[in-house]
Amino acid sequence: QQSKPMQQANTTCPYCGVGCGVTATIEAGTLSAVEGDREHPANYGRLCVKGSALHETLGEQGRLMHPRVDGVEVSWETALSATADRLNILQVEHGNHCVAAYLSGQLLTEDYYVANKLFKGFLGTPHLDTNSRLCMASAVAGYKRAFGADAVPCNYEDLEEAELVVLVGSNLAWNHPVLYQRIKVAKERNPLMRLVVIDPRVTDSCEIADLYLGIKPGSDAYLFNGLLAWMAQRRKLDTLYLERHTEGFDEALAAAQQTAGSVADVAAACDIDPERLETFYYWFASQLHVVTLYSQGVNQSSSGTDKCNAIINCHLAGGKIGLPGAGPFSITGQPNAMGGREVGGLANQLAAHMDYHTPGGRELVSRFWATESLTPILPKGPGFKAVELFDAIERGEIKALWVMATNPAISLPDAARVRAALKKCPLVIVSECAAHTDLLPYADIVLPASGWSEKDGTVTNSERRISRQRGMLAPPGEARHDWWIIAEVAKRMGFAEAFGYSHPWEIFDEHARLSGFENGASNNPPRLFDISGLVGLGQEGYDALPPIQWPVTAQAPKGTARLFEDGKFATANGRAKLVAIQPQGPEQALSTAYPLRLNTGRIRDQWHTMTRTARAPRLMNHRAEPFMDVHPDDAQFAGVVDQGLAVLTAAKGEFRGRVRVSNAQRRGEIFVPIHWTDCFTQQARSSALIDSITDPLSGQPEAKHGAVALTPL
Ligand code: SF4
Repeated sequence: QQSKPMQQANTTCPYCGVGCGVTATIEAGTLSAVEGDREHPANYGRLCVKGSALHETLGEQGRLMHPRVDGVEVSWETALSATADRLNILQVEHGNHCVAAYLSGQLLTEDYYVANKLFKGFLGTPHLDTNSRLCMASAVAGYKRAFGADAVPCNYEDLEEAELVVLVGSNLAWNHPVLYQRIKVAKERNPLMRLVVIDPRVTDSCEIADLYLGIKPGSDAYLFNGLLAWMAQRRKLDTLYLERHTEGFDEALAAAQQTAGSVADVAAACDIDPERLETFYYWFASQLHVVTLYSQGVNQSSSGTDKCNAIINCHLAGGKIGLPGAGPFSITGQPNAMGGREVGGLANQLAAHMDYHTPGGRELVSRFWATESLTPILPKGPGFKAVELFDAIERGEIKALWVMATNPAISLPDAARVRAALKKCPLVIVSECAAHTDLLPYADIVLPASGWSEKDGTVTNSERRISRQRGMLAPPGEARHDWWIIAEVAKRMGFAEAFGYSHPWEIFDEHARLSGFENGASNNPPRLFDISGLVGLGQEGYDALPPIQWPVTAQAPKGTARLFEDGKFATANGRAKLVAIQPQGPEQALSTAYPLRLNTGRIRDQWHTMTRTARAPRLMNHRAEPFMDVHPDDAQFAGVVDQGLAVLTAAKGEFRGRVRVSNAQRRGEIFVPIHWTDCFTQQARSSALIDSITDPLSGQPEAKHGAVALTPL
């Protein structure tokens, strides 16, 4: 008997927003090995430890295999009809807006597109949001305020071409390891290149840093307001750039001068050494080619949007944007956070980067989707953002929630309240790969979904690069692709014509057509997100699609590596806007009862709630159990010891874990990982310690700034 031949396929890593290309080897129907795709521009052959263990995390064990309704295994026909019928009945009884969806940056763009089209376009509800709200919403809001579009100006090569890279609130070495490796190599090649790390914790990213600023949590806007004022005082502004390409500088500078004061004042507000601060200011101001890379430490804050704009202000004021090696660069957490936004996956978006306030946007989308016969043609305004959505469920306004590829019972702050809301919700539908999650017990209808290596579609990484994630294996049991599940429900709700897809390329084609639909027509303002150059690929062209950065248009058929090179922005008047920033501290206040500041984050070898990464023993070896990093003085004061067990208590919950006494922590501050769930161990959910306080502009929760007490267990 002849053995089956070995095959190789290029796909994309499903973990972080770097979006590395992966070459997978398939032997005898299993995925036997992975290596970095040497041609993929995100990683040129590199993979981090998580990516290189992808083939060890697959297999049927622990997979959800069959649909269930009310706890009973049923056929797909029964599950799809039950989903359609129950959604229909609730909408008839309670109106269109009583149904909602909560999606995920793990979904492919095609899945996202079909979900957004069904909920906003055909069910007429604006309440569709995503877990990207927890990681990217502040960066999005910051870009939109400054540039008029949710548009990352830079690319990964800019990190290598920069003279100075500034990491703010980002442990790149652990959370985006391949980008960290690229910077490391670039620094080895160019000894003049510098790296500054701004973070309350000394992380592995500091290993190659030329300067470390261990700022007080939440003080970022003071620091960057101070930089703007310092640049003005030292005549380090690019006045020509400001004059030609921006507006709002005078107001932004006045606010910065009012709040920043002297370098010593800023250093005091940030609790850092003034000399080190001034060194940073000097380095930033004296180099043109500066990239500021920022992540959750900036975004997950009750004033995250302002922090983003405080950073962007400094880049605009110095003309450090639209050039090789220059720009404010927000780095996404999830593999397809950006692809989800492209199709309208946030509750404040409509579709194809159009919002509800985009002039003519509703009419245009409605015309494209041919929903004119529906009443209303589309929702009139934004829906509930993630935290608000669960508040609305609790109030009884939302009667049905469809959750896809995410676990809000763990990831949202104040998880106990989220669970209470889910319990109250008359209809909870869950599309999921894993057989055991903390969310599934709340589900009335369970729909088994395909996962990485089975799904087929596209994702967009942090540098706007659209890459194919290719299906290589058949889904196990009766698992099906998310786009198929949504389309089949849509058909059973009476929308067969609009959801008659048979392959993801058809969905991508429709998405690409919508992106360019009447773009720039006289009655519509031009939209930056446009991939109309990818229309008409057909299945063959789609299968062969190489990684490409949007916009992709007739004028830019090979994509666009860098935005705003001509100094023209996506605002109504083409000028970038500097925003006046009033720095704010965290809203979750410390008190006598809860005197320690809690910081939360990812660890090197785990991904989200570990449904995949926990399957690889070598990934579990890095940190095998929940832990808390504690400064030696705090440990001594609380009476806890290194490697002993302790409990962190907050107003609404507690977290138990192993103590790691560490000088990497600032005094008075604790770090815990976000990954552990009740499926693995009891009472080690970091989300139990965080209040559901959000940024008023972005709706992003303040997940980095809890208030806790520490006691021995
Ligand atoms: Fe995957 Fe991110 Fe690691 Fe690349 S850096 S291999 S995308 S987890």
